[in-house]
Amino acid sequence: MRDVHHFIDGKQVAGTSGRYGDIYNPNTGEVQARVQLATEAELDAAVQSAQAAFFGWSTTNPQRRARVMFEFKRLLEANINELAELLSSEHGKVVADSKGDVQRGIDVVEFACGIPHLQKGEYTEGAGPGIDVYSMRQPLGVVAGITPFNFPAMIPCWMSAVAIACGNTFILKPSEKDPSVPLRLAELFMEAGAPAGVLNCVHGDKVSVDAILKHSDIKAVSFVGSSDIAQYVYSLGTSHGKRVQAMGGAKNHGIIMPDCNMEQAVKDIVGAAYGSAGERCMALPVAVTVGKKTGDEFVERMLDAARGLTVGISTDADAHYGPVVSAAHKAKIESYIQMGVDEGADLLMDGRGHTLQGHENGFFVGPSLFDNVKPHMQSYKEEIFGPVLQVVRAETLEEAAALPSNHQYGNGCAIFTSNGRAAREFAAQVNVGMVGINVPIPVPVSYHTFGGWKRSAFGDTNQHGPEGVRFWTKIKTVTQRWPEGDIGDQAFIIPTMG
Ligand code: NAD
Repeated sequence: MRDVHHFIDGKQVAGTSGRYGDIYNPNTGEVQARVQLATEAELDAAVQSAQAAFFGWSTTNPQRRARVMFEFKRLLEANINELAELLSSEHGKVVADSKGDVQRGIDVVEFACGIPHLQKGEYTEGAGPGIDVYSMRQPLGVVAGITPFNFPAMIPCWMSAVAIACGNTFILKPSEKDPSVPLRLAELFMEAGAPAGVLNCVHGDKVSVDAILKHSDIKAVSFVGSSDIAQYVYSLGTSHGKRVQAMGGAKNHGIIMPDCNMEQAVKDIVGAAYGSAGERCMALPVAVTVGKKTGDEFVERMLDAARGLTVGISTDADAHYGPVVSAAHKAKIESYIQMGVDEGADLLMDGRGHTLQGHENGFFVGPSLFDNVKPHMQSYKEEIFGPVLQVVRAETLEEAAALPSNHQYGNGCAIFTSNGRAAREFAAQVNVGMVGINVPIPVPVSYHTFGGWKRSAFGDTNQHGPEGVRFWTKIKTVTQRWPEGDIGDQAFIIPTMG
């Protein structure tokens, strides 16, 4: 059995806890490897290494730090096929989709290559007589990222690339379900010229997460995962004096207006609802149709489109999507489908019990489509995170727009329309963090910023873009004067520049 090790102080290190997590091959249902789950002491060893590396790395000039990023980007590009195949083998998403996962990570590394410019401070000459004021953005120290299973390349890069470019040293605690790509990222980063200890990868579960949140030498934590854990991480981390951003679950709505390009909207939504088996926080699992005619047409076309989908193993180039990540997750998705039926929604297409010849034990779930889902239903209120599209019928745009606005989650949403004014109004008013206008998955590019609202994100700073640089740095402001000799008497009143 292959063991996935930690990466501490620039090398792979075998774990000592005697505790392991199973890594499945989702195509076959077999355990293909095991990951070592760290002890507190192992996490501490990574922190010590990161702490020792911090002074040297944070005082390395920004251009040299950027050069390591440039080389890391080159290595990721050179290894994209190998990384995508490894990613698919543990996650189950199809290889072309895994390449997208790696590419989105590369995009953030590319953004981080601009750190000399991004981290520049501000300067005011002559803020008072002979007085200048300047501010600088300094790294925080040792920082950590805790990541989910669904984007094992992109999300570690969201956090580590920006944090490290800013001069921090980093502990990555990836999902224990698909930990091999994050480990390869740490190795490639060393190969790119980063000193040992700048990026450590510690595998684990709640034990290592708690150890991160309580460790006095870790200054900031970025988390992405489900909302209950995100809230827990935010509360525990901040109560230990850390800066925390914690992104959670989602239930993204797409509003289908009567004046939309229906053919295109259906094409967009079939990909956004079922792609990656729905295991995306920016998937689009709820379609809200406006008006009966629009609803009927949408449902008819969507049923056709969903029937045309091919579910296959992750290396099948013709498959639209692959298996879900685990047997437990498959069972959870199927239980939500049953819940929808019990609650009275119309199940037009049932993906339960989907099997693939030759891969009978794989974690496959076929596409499911519900019509007439109502906002009070539990299966609507909660995140399913599977290949299930729920159609909710509304009469007006106001009624439709209230749904994403009032939902507990507020990650992304989209509107499909040819009316610019309605789209503009919707984007301005909706109580959600990321909005698509005729764009089904509005994940912002790396130099903008990613983050949801409400129970989709705890804390107030987003991932990557200028917001990311702010999260991973603290500002110091210096007021200076260089007087010639004595400049006056003792002052007992607050100095003003007036
Ligand atoms: P998860 O919450 O189960 O796990 C995320 C991380 O938390 C993992 O590293 C895991 O080891 C750790 N963890 C799990 N249980 C824990 C516990 N009890 N105490 C402490 N740590 C614990 O999430 P997942 O299933 O890996 O990922 C899917 C979820 O992530 C979905 O809800 C999805 O919407 C969300 N997600 C959100 C975003 C976003 O940016 N908002 C992006 C991707 C995924």
